[in-house]
Amino acid sequence: MSAYAGKHVIVVGAGCTGLGLARFFLDRGADVTLSESRRREDIGGVEELAARGVRFDCGGHDAALMAAADLVAISPGIALDVPAVAGAMAAGVPVLGEIEIAARELAAPMIAITGTNGKSTTTCLVGEILQRWNRRAFVGGNLGTPLIEATRDSDWDWIVAEISSFQMEAIETFRPRYGLLLNLTEDHLDRYPDMASYVAAKLRLFENMTAADVAILNADDALVMRCAEALPCRKICFSSSRVLQQGMGFDGQDIVWRFDGGEQRFAVSQLRLKGLHNVENAMAALIAPLLEGCPADLAWQAVCGFSGLDHRMVRVRELDGVTWYDDSKGTNVGSVVKSLAGLEAPVTLIAGGKDKGGDYAPLAQLMRDKVAHLILIGQAADRMQQAFSGLTGILRAATLEEAVQMAFDLTAPGGTVLLSPGCSSFDMFRSYAERGAVFCRAVQALQSRG
Ligand code: ADP
Repeated sequence: MSAYAGKHVIVVGAGCTGLGLARFFLDRGADVTLSESRRREDIGGVEELAARGVRFDCGGHDAALMAAADLVAISPGIALDVPAVAGAMAAGVPVLGEIEIAARELAAPMIAITGTNGKSTTTCLVGEILQRWNRRAFVGGNLGTPLIEATRDSDWDWIVAEISSFQMEAIETFRPRYGLLLNLTEDHLDRYPDMASYVAAKLRLFENMTAADVAILNADDALVMRCAEALPCRKICFSSSRVLQQGMGFDGQDIVWRFDGGEQRFAVSQLRLKGLHNVENAMAALIAPLLEGCPADLAWQAVCGFSGLDHRMVRVRELDGVTWYDDSKGTNVGSVVKSLAGLEAPVTLIAGGKDKGGDYAPLAQLMRDKVAHLILIGQAADRMQQAFSGLTGILRAATLEEAVQMAFDLTAPGGTVLLSPGCSSFDMFRSYAERGAVFCRAVQALQSRG
């Protein structure tokens, strides 16, 4: 019998992770309440749960109910300082995050991927490699299918999980066999009081790892390397700026894997993914499968076959000599830096959205070098305009469609238009995907001037 049978479990958050958690606990005989700040009538997809006896605490979170529960299970969108959750913790109720609950049930070893940028791409690449190697791999977590859904099947060879900082706030025993930390730049400073707290949340990936486990680290990221100094697990590094004595390096043409006296080379010209940041993602993704014995040629074929995810530097169209790119997933300054760095000037950049409280200054030099016109949208427009006050050619648009029209009017043949907002989308859209779809529709609707 499951340890959850007969227990009163409150699942906080009724997004797809919360609904998955509710089903998970119901399947194990728990008495489940779903607690959600939205009103009951505004939550979709809960009829099946209601029919199975789930109770609802909607339009807010009932602190007394939570403080009396046997377990509070939180979705990643819920911060631990939500008063009812903090109250439950103070009352001694265990508060666990979804990845902790899922990991306790999963027997297969895990490759967990975190970092500020590149997580989804790297997660998919690892999944592609393992699948090409005929391993049964669950691929999900913060991307696609929530980790809790992996518990519906006990037959996985590997669990490949993208892990966000939010998801690590409520872990206890979570312990991947491989932990990848791709990079650390400012993000989510609207949720964390400062960069140190954000970094501390990311580093929790390694907190239960031992000498039997492997940390895969970006040797070019000074902050990553500083933070990794004290880790007790084995460390294998990747670098896109040099060849490493031991580890995954790059000589400008080939990725070079050197390990225990052996050497393998992979020609980057064969990659369908573009940009140095994707070389980094490919390098990071190869390490764990190669250490596990995956044949190098097979792993490389899988990496080369992957053409990338939607809304990450996707070329939308060329019109009247202007190329349009959708990088709606460029939701922080570090990702805009990488996207802009990979393009030739002159660029018309459409940026802005919901401000995350970070510093836009790291973009200033690239803006001067590459951006001829900056079109700002959304809540962050004022802060961004101040940060780039030395730049000429800053304009404002009320909607993304208007920004697209302005970019069309301003950009001469030979130029590039890039949507890479550097912000989250929630001031104007439901998600980065909706923002990207609106952008692509507006771009496709433009008529050639002949
Ligand atoms: P995440 O899941 O961490 O948000 P994605 O793979 O979805 O990462 O990529 C999001 C954006 O981040 C991309 O559009 C690109 O601009 C940028 N990016 C991708 N990989 C890297 C990397 N390794 N380093 C820095 N920026 C990256």
